[in-house]
Amino acid sequence: MQMPRIAFFCMEYGLESDFKIYAGGLGILAGDYLKAARDMGLPIVGIGLLWKQGYTRQVLNEKDYPVDTYPNYKYDFLEDTGIKIRVKIRNRDVYCRVWKVDNFDNAPLYLLDTDLDENEDRWITGQLYGYFEEERVAQEMVLGIGGIKALKALGIEVDVYHLNEGHAVFAALELIKEQMQKGLSFAEARELVKEKVVFTTHTPVKQGNEEHTYRRLDYMGAFDFFTPEQMGEIGGIPFNMTVAGLRLAGKANAVSSLHNITANNMWAHIDNRAEIIGITNGVHRPTWVSDKIVQNTSNPGGLWEVHKGLKQELIDFIHKRTGQKLDINKLLIGFARRAVPYKRGNLIFKNNDRIEPLLKEGKIQIIFSGKAHPLDDEGKEIIASQVGLARKYPGQVVFLEDYDMEIARYMTRGCDVWLNNPRKPMEACGTSGMKAAMNGVLNLSVLDGWWAEACRDGKNGWQFGDGMSADDFTGDLEARVIKQDRNDLTALYDVLYTRVLPTYYNNREEWLKMMERSIDSTYDRYSARRMLGDYYNLLYQ
Ligand SMILES: *Cc1c(COP(=O)(O)O)cnc(C)c1O
Repeated sequence: MQMPRIAFFCMEYGLESDFKIYAGGLGILAGDYLKAARDMGLPIVGIGLLWKQGYTRQVLNEKDYPVDTYPNYKYDFLEDTGIKIRVKIRNRDVYCRVWKVDNFDNAPLYLLDTDLDENEDRWITGQLYGYFEEERVAQEMVLGIGGIKALKALGIEVDVYHLNEGHAVFAALELIKEQMQKGLSFAEARELVKEKVVFTTHTPVKQGNEEHTYRRLDYMGAFDFFTPEQMGEIGGIPFNMTVAGLRLAGKANAVSSLHNITANNMWAHIDNRAEIIGITNGVHRPTWVSDKIVQNTSNPGGLWEVHKGLKQELIDFIHKRTGQKLDINKLLIGFARRAVPYKRGNLIFKNNDRIEPLLKEGKIQIIFSGKAHPLDDEGKEIIASQVGLARKYPGQVVFLEDYDMEIARYMTRGCDVWLNNPRKPMEACGTSGMKAAMNGVLNLSVLDGWWAEACRDGKNGWQFGDGMSADDFTGDLEARVIKQDRNDLTALYDVLYTRVLPTYYNNREEWLKMMERSIDSTYDRYSARRMLGDYYNLLYQ
């Protein structure tokens, strides 16, 4: 049987650490997806944008506050396909060069680039998740409309269009437009296109689902071809990109079992939409799991030595980056993720009476890393507070600036414990914990995202907080969130004091057993291979 040919649309791709066309989890997932497609010989092409400045390069200024810089990147490994397509944006022609990322034989990535002399609007592919709403719409039009045109110009035949997150919905609108230009009615074209479109939602926070006013979309020329009524039928008013994705697709998925429940509740009131199923994300093992772990899988006795080697590599990396020297014999906790309030980046420091003794006695060491969105002052305050702690506890608390794939790779291999404490149910999946788990780094996490389905408490890692969300408490929203935070904080210290620390320092044998179970229980189950298998079985057929 012929496998369906897939075109995968995404705003960002995390392929290599220094190929700066990614911001975070969404891009890493897209990169892992394409790499697994290549490994498995699947007929998949990726469509994305060639970001000139990428996401922010975020470093600390002399006051230890994160500031954003935007170098221009140039890559010498891109192949010019010689193809140029045109998208009309704000009533102007925008030309897009189409580049090919050349090292993906059966699963190539094509990147659209507006940085051409003939364009007035060269800035469109300038900054990933930039500052202005109009800019965002223009970028999404290039990705969606331009992406469809590029596939056509390249002569690539597609059976299924996979829109990864709402940014890509203009692709499906372009497909509808094509059918209508061939004479179909709007309703007929919609039905036909639905058969060929699938959609993945990643955002369990309502406000995180992008919306645009009709005035803005109209100004940008995003619905030149469609009436406001038709646009309303698809995306509602204002135009919600996730709602549009759910209504344009024949099938849709959320990115973990728990997120599937959350997403189905969140969009229950939306009529005429695709069914949402749960397909949990997975990670590309060759990228994230150390060869030494892979080679050691049949030798439990050697696991501790392998782990110590990886921990030493992380300690050396930190020394090189920060001048700080961590101790290989002390418990090392890692926390690296986007700095955004719901992830509670400094939760572990919220009760000084409980954390300070552990630091004073030299029982724990903590590494933080992460970036805040350039416009997110709350996120930047979180980083500033993490850096403050690093200054207060030198040699024990470390902050690594400008979080990227390289830092993620060192940290998810070399820490002892991977801490994760979002406010449930706001973490759709979270893939850094999978990387850690496969390397034998034990997850210490609330029961949100993937961990809600993967955790065997005390066996392959630990949970804390018993899966409580704000809605399990009483009072107004603010009061409920405060109670949720208090619940999780108390539970975190309890688990740390009574289970994690005693096991680490007094029962090495049990710790090693947990490391083995961590690897065994995640190695296949949370690989990108398994994810792609699920996509083919449940979404693409
Ligand atoms: C894996 C990874 C992520 C996603 O992990 P989360 O657990 O969702 O935070 C984000 N950024 C980088 C650089 C990664 O490697």
